[in-house]
Amino acid sequence: MRNDDFDFREVTDDEKVDIQDTPVDVVDNTTGDTVSDDARKNEAGDNKPSDNDNKPEYEDVCFVCRRPESKAGKMFHLPNNICVCDDCMHKTMDAVSQFDYQNMLNNPNLMNELNKNSGMPNMGFFNMGDFQNNGFNMGGGIPNSQKIKKKSEASSKPAIDIKNIPAPHKIKAKLDEYVIGQDQAKKVMSVAVYNHYKRVATDTMDEIEIEKSNILLLGPTGSGKTYLVKTLAKLLDVPLAIADATSLTEAGYIGDDIESVVSKLLAAAGNDVEKTEHGIIFIDEIDKIAKKKNTTSRDVSGESVQQGMLKLLEGSNVEVPVGAGSKNAMVPLATVNTRNILFICGGAFPDLEEIITQRLNKQTSIGFDADLKDKYEDDPNLLSKVTVEDLKKFGMIPEFLGRLPIICSLQALTKDMLVKILKEPKNAILKQYQKLLALDEVDLEFDDSALEAIAEKAMEKDTGARALRAIIEEFMLDIMYEIPKDENIGRVTITRDYIEGKSSPLIEIRGDLVPKIPQFNVEQATNT
Ligand code: ADP
Repeated sequence: MRNDDFDFREVTDDEKVDIQDTPVDVVDNTTGDTVSDDARKNEAGDNKPSDNDNKPEYEDVCFVCRRPESKAGKMFHLPNNICVCDDCMHKTMDAVSQFDYQNMLNNPNLMNELNKNSGMPNMGFFNMGDFQNNGFNMGGGIPNSQKIKKKSEASSKPAIDIKNIPAPHKIKAKLDEYVIGQDQAKKVMSVAVYNHYKRVATDTMDEIEIEKSNILLLGPTGSGKTYLVKTLAKLLDVPLAIADATSLTEAGYIGDDIESVVSKLLAAAGNDVEKTEHGIIFIDEIDKIAKKKNTTSRDVSGESVQQGMLKLLEGSNVEVPVGAGSKNAMVPLATVNTRNILFICGGAFPDLEEIITQRLNKQTSIGFDADLKDKYEDDPNLLSKVTVEDLKKFGMIPEFLGRLPIICSLQALTKDMLVKILKEPKNAILKQYQKLLALDEVDLEFDDSALEAIAEKAMEKDTGARALRAIIEEFMLDIMYEIPKDENIGRVTITRDYIEGKSSPLIEIRGDLVPKIPQFNVEQATNT
């Protein structure tokens, strides 16, 4: 066929088709389905990743000044994943342009050193890659644990939605599943937390600003202070940092800086500053930073720490090291605002009871209503009668107490409560052991009297529910050791006598077991 047969004419722009951009649907031979072009590209992985896919999760950190991208601005990307900020790049360029090369060339000693590496006469280089491998972990080698998470686009909407905060009764109901007793404390905490997150959600309130509701938790050791806070943070799905006040000292002294607690929270939030700002910080052993009495030396771990915490409790911007306990030139810093962080301080306040008794005795020993002097001496829940005055007398400074407006106390655990703690919470200790033995197809049963015996033993130790685990570990050791030896064992029953060391546990052999068949199974069996 000759070309002349065709009617040649200019093709207009509209008629042109860009082959690359035309979607081509293909019929899949095996299934007969039509597979769209996009889907094929996706499968083959040759679709360009979307912008979101490309975005790195963490901010770049300047190789020279260690500032993150959010502070230092855009970075120059050099080989080996090294980033340098605009400022540092300019400073380096300035320094290079002012460098006295002539003098360097005339200095034979310096040149010899440089030439050792380069292998070229009068030329010295350094290999950027060395920085990654020299153990200093510099430049591009900065681990993600030291980088700040980038703000995601989704985070432009409020992180906490007022409709998503569970109502106080729902928070308490959830707490009930895990924490036994302590009803008043659970109620107070539920309301406080609910109000706190409502305040966070309605951040724009100008005229009526809702005040922050930090909490002070008092209660004997092992009564569940830490456990309550941990459970709360888990239910609310917010990051939690638990710090110990005893290790804190005034800045500049040996010990942890007060701001290190925020750094812990940042780590718990996966270096996400926004998440950190809605987290909970629990500072335990707060009674250990009471003002020291009759001391002439500087109170660096007591009153000074309380004073240092004032700013944090109220809300301020703090610069915290990312991925490290203390600030130094090698770690990047992030700025965290503590205005919306909920602070919960906890302590056993052992000598506080004496102060409360004294006050109460004073009040009631005058006049016709005078009570017996030792009326309050044996009251296990004396802490619930605490007032701010008592705490001041104990050594807490008024400014500090003023920033913890909610004071709530936990009761000392009774025998009944200890028995319940053993068997009722969702992850009760007994349930854990039962699950372990169930894997060997062995039933583990506890007599009620055995549980009481364990609780009695725990009461003697005076360390609250903490003692339970130690006691159980002790007598379960033999059982966990012996049972797997004999495959015939089907059920073990722990009795009071076994706990008291008078006899061994009741062992039932598989064949002798009266099977616990649910009612419907029996009926089904007879029907068929
Ligand atoms: P502390 O008051 O000294 O902070 P913890 O909260 O650490 O005591 O309690 C120690 C352990 O005892 C917890 O891990 C938890 O298992 C158990 N526990 C304490 N109190 C309760 C409680 N009221 N309900 C259920 N478990 C509790």
